[in-house]
Amino acid sequence: MIDRLFTNAVLPDGRSVDLSIRDGRFAAIGPDLSADAATETVDLGGKLVLPGFVDGHIHLDKSFVGEPWQPHRPAASLRERLAAEKALLAKVRPTAQRADALIAQVAAFGTVAMRSHVDVDATTGLSHLHAVMEAREKWRDRMDIELVAFPQAGILTCPGTADILEAAIADGAEVVGGIDPEGMDGDSDGHLDVVFGLADRRGAKIDIHLHEGGAGGIAQLHRIAARTKALGLGERVAVSHAYALGDVDGAVLDGIARALADAGVAIMTNAPGDRAFPPILRLREHGVRVFAGNDNIRDAWWPYGNGDMLQRAMLIGYRSGFYRDEELAGALAMATEEAARALGLEPPRLEVGMAASFVALEADTPAAAVAAPPADRVVVHRGRVF
Ligand SMILES: [Zn+2]
Repeated sequence: MIDRLFTNAVLPDGRSVDLSIRDGRFAAIGPDLSADAATETVDLGGKLVLPGFVDGHIHLDKSFVGEPWQPHRPAASLRERLAAEKALLAKVRPTAQRADALIAQVAAFGTVAMRSHVDVDATTGLSHLHAVMEAREKWRDRMDIELVAFPQAGILTCPGTADILEAAIADGAEVVGGIDPEGMDGDSDGHLDVVFGLADRRGAKIDIHLHEGGAGGIAQLHRIAARTKALGLGERVAVSHAYALGDVDGAVLDGIARALADAGVAIMTNAPGDRAFPPILRLREHGVRVFAGNDNIRDAWWPYGNGDMLQRAMLIGYRSGFYRDEELAGALAMATEEAARALGLEPPRLEVGMAASFVALEADTPAAAVAAPPADRVVVHRGRVF
């Protein structure tokens, strides 16, 4: 029994097909599929279908989406920024409601899964985590949400945070976060002892924010790769940003790329506008998984972003100088299959047997969709039209 039949779809390879759905999965993909009279049929009118988007890095507890516009406030230091953020967040709606508003917005763009970092520290405790878990529960049929316990204020410099991280994992966060082991905490080994120790003990994954540039950042990446390999945590560790990879080239870059690939450490980038960021193609040549995320969306850290992963793929391509179709399609893959694999999810593929989660839009090819993301979209999640 077919639940729904989508007709007149165009696949990324250009084939015109119909898509039949049973129990939320593709039951058949091909030309001129038939359905009985009782089956609901949706005519996609020749639209291109792309796999559902996966946001590999978002902060659901920070965003002001759904709130009145908050003008950006400059801050002279990280500590000042953290204090300004706490003051701003105290004036807006509770975390669960803001998280809900952001999930609703990105779901409408076609995102079907995400990894959200959530602040935990000695003063915030688990309040943000519990609020985001409340929003996650509300969206469980529509969005796969993985949560990172993120020590935004540091671990060693914010006493009590190690215990809070442990409690966060016990309460349901799947990933242990970290941040600038040397640059923020001043003790790389101490910081990584907490992060890797907890992940190893609890069977959690790891995703570390690393903003440290140059040789210092590369040294941290080597430490992370070595610990990942020693503990056999390959494919379960990611480093977000890793700006240092954009600061170095030649033998230094090749050396760290080989170490990351060998250990199975993935790199997340959002292609930020104001600094160097990882060279995607070079890392891929070495076998490093590179995936995409939005990171901050309209919050105390920066005013930009709407949460659309197709627009993020465009920004990644724009900043990387991707002009050729295969390069643009590669930027899209960072927001679909590569991000899904980094999160340990079933890759979102338009194939029989796979979850029927896709986005239909007016574009000739995936490259065209990335180069100029269309606004109008039909979003289908596990066979249901939204
Ligand atoms: Zn982040």
